[in-house]
Amino acid sequence: MKLIYNRSSKLTSPCIAAVVLALMLTFHTGCSTPLVKALSDINIFTDAEELQFGKAYVAEHEKKVKLYTDPVVVNYINALGQSLVPHSKRSNIRYTFKVVDKKGVNAYAVPGGFIYIHLDLIRMAKTESELAFVLGHEIGHIVGRHSMKRLTKVYGIEIIKRIILDEESSEAEKLIAEILAAGLLFRYSRDNERESDFYGVQNIYDAGISPEGATDFFKTLQNLQKREPSTLEKLISTHPVHNERITNVRSHIKNLPPKSGLRRDTSDFRTIKRRLGH
Ligand SMILES: [Zn+2]
Repeated sequence: MKLIYNRSSKLTSPCIAAVVLALMLTFHTGCSTPLVKALSDINIFTDAEELQFGKAYVAEHEKKVKLYTDPVVVNYINALGQSLVPHSKRSNIRYTFKVVDKKGVNAYAVPGGFIYIHLDLIRMAKTESELAFVLGHEIGHIVGRHSMKRLTKVYGIEIIKRIILDEESSEAEKLIAEILAAGLLFRYSRDNERESDFYGVQNIYDAGISPEGATDFFKTLQNLQKREPSTLEKLISTHPVHNERITNVRSHIKNLPPKSGLRRDTSDFRTIKRRLGH
């Protein structure tokens, strides 16, 4: 794909500062973390900048997708998502949870706190705890700032800051369109997935929901993968289910202190399922 920016652009001072900081951290801690890894772990955008970028992306994204509008379903998903936010590791930003009326099982998180879930995923989930894990996992991508780190790696901080500062410019519009078409925000690494799974399990457990929702969700996914692999194409391409993920999630759950009253399902969830014909 043709890139619309000049890769030889000079480093901006914030970028140099990030490199210096990464070097200092590397030497200070005495560890041998490669510079690139150290760099990718630094948050180089403020919450306000991330939100600006997210808003610009979402404006384009929502021109292309059909949002599901049944208030009973939409309000239920938003309420479930919002109930997780205070227990997340990044509860200081505003989140929105929306339902997308598009074929295929999928869920994704846009920087700034915009989380989308496909109707087919709601249809597939067997309990509220499964659905909560999916939302917790997506919140985890926001907590880990995975997409912003990915974008910075691909384009460099200078380009992304320019979009944020001047999102109305034609250059910014083209770049957003390119990021959207390439699905760049959702190309997660195994480390990203591991981290989001960890946050997702912890988040639902802390919110009083059974963490078994995570393992149940993976089982449901695997069963559907055998029966109707085509419906999972999109989700699996961005969130591959490796055995390693399931093993990690199981051991995380095993290490959680026992807690009574963890809920697996609710009558609200059953109402939604009936409404969606399941
Ligand atoms: Zn993921």
